[in-house]
Amino acid sequence: MQTKVKTKAEIAAMRESGRMLATVLQFLKNQLTPGMSTKDLAVLASDELRRLGGEPSFLHYQGFPDVICISVNDEVVHGIPSPDKIIQTGDIVGLDFGVTYQKMITDSAISVIAGKPIDQRHAKLVEQTERAMMAGIGALHDGVRTGDIGAAVQAVLDKGRYGIVRDLVGHGVGHALHEDPNIPNYGRKNTGPWLQAGMTIAIEPMATLGTDDVFVAEDGWTIVTQDNSRAAHFEHTVLITEDGFELLTTT
Ligand code: MG
Ligand code: MG
Repeated sequence: MQTKVKTKAEIAAMRESGRMLATVLQFLKNQLTPGMSTKDLAVLASDELRRLGGEPSFLHYQGFPDVICISVNDEVVHGIPSPDKIIQTGDIVGLDFGVTYQKMITDSAISVIAGKPIDQRHAKLVEQTERAMMAGIGALHDGVRTGDIGAAVQAVLDKGRYGIVRDLVGHGVGHALHEDPNIPNYGRKNTGPWLQAGMTIAIEPMATLGTDDVFVAEDGWTIVTQDNSRAAHFEHTVLITEDGFELLTTT
């Protein structure tokens, strides 16, 4: 499904959805403590979202068994919460969440270091992945091309010599969790499909301390780095405007 220019009412619903989503991610970030399981965090996310009045978009999406993806260290994305997965000090914990409100979906992710970093390279990876996402968002305007976004993201990650995961990409979002076109985290300016003001997209760089090779774990979901290097992931859902953007997944 091709992403559409959203109506005022749809955008208003996405603002509300995004506000709930950002509220839950901020809550999880504050609650996250070494010794908790990833399932503990998922339960908190579920309860907090219900309290706010939204529905979890990921639950049962293509068979995904939980409300949130939680991916630790060499897990890049799509980790399934588990009571057996205990978070350790210094772990990089990726929290990727989706919220549906009045049938409109937003998608956002943060990476958080549990307790204190055990290696400053981990902290830097997290910081620079977020910076790469913001660079991609900063490239937005009416008529932007997906390659303009990819080039802006890639410039930041290349500078830090990080691996850029290429098998997974950003995307349109709103009526569905994944709408076309794909928005790669690499590319060249002035290439790729054009995007218009009024469209809503998710920009989500995934970077590693090693290579860009990943594989799907035995659970059929979790994407893991081939070289077991650590990864970070950030994502915002944004509205493209005439001369820029509006962040939707923010409080
Ligand atoms: Mg996501
Ligand atoms: Mg996404």
